[in-house]
Amino acid sequence: MSQIILIVGGGLAGLTAAGLLHRAGVGFKLLEARDRLGGRILSVDATGEPSGDGFDLGPSWFWPGLQPAMGDLVHLLGLHYFEQNSDGDVIFQRMSREAPQRYRGMRQDPQSMRLVGGTGAIISALAESLPAQSIQLSARVTHVSLEGQEVVVQYVDGSGSSHKQRASHVLFALPPRLLEAKVLFSPSLDFATSERWQRTPTWMAPHAKFFALYDRPFWRDAGLSGTAQSLVGPLVEIHDATTASGRAALFGFVGLPAEQRAAIGRDAIVAASVQQLAQMFGPQAASPLATLFKDWTDDPLTATADDRAGGHPSSDRRPWVNGKWRDYISLAGSETSLSEPGYLAGAVEAATRTANEIISRLGRSERQAFAPSSEVSRA
Ligand SMILES: Cc1cc2nc3c(=O)[nH]c(=O)nc-3n(C[C@H](O)[C@H](O)[C@H](O)COP(=O)(O)OP(=O)(O)OC[C@H]3O[C@@H](n4cnc5c(N)ncnc54)[C@H](O)[C@@H]3O)c2cc1C
Repeated sequence: MSQIILIVGGGLAGLTAAGLLHRAGVGFKLLEARDRLGGRILSVDATGEPSGDGFDLGPSWFWPGLQPAMGDLVHLLGLHYFEQNSDGDVIFQRMSREAPQRYRGMRQDPQSMRLVGGTGAIISALAESLPAQSIQLSARVTHVSLEGQEVVVQYVDGSGSSHKQRASHVLFALPPRLLEAKVLFSPSLDFATSERWQRTPTWMAPHAKFFALYDRPFWRDAGLSGTAQSLVGPLVEIHDATTASGRAALFGFVGLPAEQRAAIGRDAIVAASVQQLAQMFGPQAASPLATLFKDWTDDPLTATADDRAGGHPSSDRRPWVNGKWRDYISLAGSETSLSEPGYLAGAVEAATRTANEIISRLGRSERQAFAPSSEVSRA
């Protein structure tokens, strides 16, 4: 029988689990549906391409004092981080017919931290420590079936070919709601399990982020931190997104609900956001070098239609898998964390706990290197 552990999902959780299995000498293969690693972590350059010195279209912040799991991993990987800029005054925009108000800023507590290079730096560092042949990109899992003591995982590659991979255990490192919506289980999951997965909100999936890039952080010259809040919109919460290397930017969360964003369209949102930044930060903000916009609701490898309603996952100690599947699959995405569900730290915690369970269950004598056993057929 195959002793391969299959990891589905190459975000922070999947790569953390892969790193632990690898260090423990456990053979694994990781399947990632996208043509890149990182999942919700996405650091890009001015053209929107993934970059090692990027702007964070997904998560920007972590709080090492509050979230030791994330802080420890950052230290272990030798990554550097810096404080989210909050030096200077903040701006509050209450009504469109009223000039925005300026207030004295307060030091953040707890202080949000950003990774040098962008949050994607943690993904690159984790991936570098793993054997490249154990990671397969553009591999979207569609079906999972139980055959005797083995799990057979079916996935589609970038050219549409369908493949099968056998494994002794599958670790799903993706949001439970997405897993329930997109992957078919045979035999079916019991009703309580699939209902719980479906009801678990995917953190930040309903959100969209906008960036305006500038040649210099001109707002700092005016004594502004770049932090702003607005009751007018479309941006409701704005921050300085200047990189550690000095590439200047402001970013904001778009406050419009997903349906409204879809109706208005990307171009109109971008134009209105630039106009709003100019109202709040002055005429220099009206001419960004470039803009970036990412609507996570439109990302089929993050959000489902149910995510439009929003919500935060809550910590829940009940097992995520029951019935026939209990001994064959585990859930390890951030939303399944016991301590920080939905956050980066949650992905690290859930993946660490789940990988360690697998490692101790296997025992050293049963560990073996991965030997591929895939069957190819055209979908
Ligand atoms: C806009 C935004 C801002 C955020 N801000 C913060 C923040 O500041 N601080 C913070 O702590 N957290 C933040 N978060 C949350 C943080 O991004 C997540 O907690 C974390 O990245 C989740 O990691 P994960 O590996 O569990 O899941 P994901 O990153 O979602 O990874 C799942 C992976 O599975 C893959 N996948 C999906 N379906 C399949 C399939 N069928 N087959 C194969 N692969 C599949 C996906 O492509 C993806 O790569 C933010 C999220 C967003 C979207």
